[in-house]
Amino acid sequence: MRYVTTYERNPKLRRQAIAIHGVTCKACGFNFEKTYGEYARKFVHIHHIEPVSEFEGEKIVDPETDLVPLCANCHAVVHRRKNKALSIDELMAMLKEVS
Ligand SMILES: [Zn+2]
Ligand SMILES: [Zn+2]
Repeated sequence: MRYVTTYERNPKLRRQAIAIHGVTCKACGFNFEKTYGEYARKFVHIHHIEPVSEFEGEKIVDPETDLVPLCANCHAVVHRRKNKALSIDELMAMLKEVS
């Protein structure tokens, strides 16, 4: 997917983020392991909270605060607009409105 940033693709950061946060979507609570079993565990998306375009040069990414697990649906919605990613709070507010 084009919109997924390099940080989100970094396998080491991904592994660390999953170790810290697990595989439950931070926004809607979808759990890949519970729904599909071990087979899909690693299918969770890792979202980088700060848009990469705001980065000036190098920055240390802290997987605990900068990365969150999201399901594919929520992740797509967060990046719905190319120039601005939604915050997790904004996304959760949207989810509440619908349900
Ligand atoms: Zn989700
Ligand atoms: Zn993302």
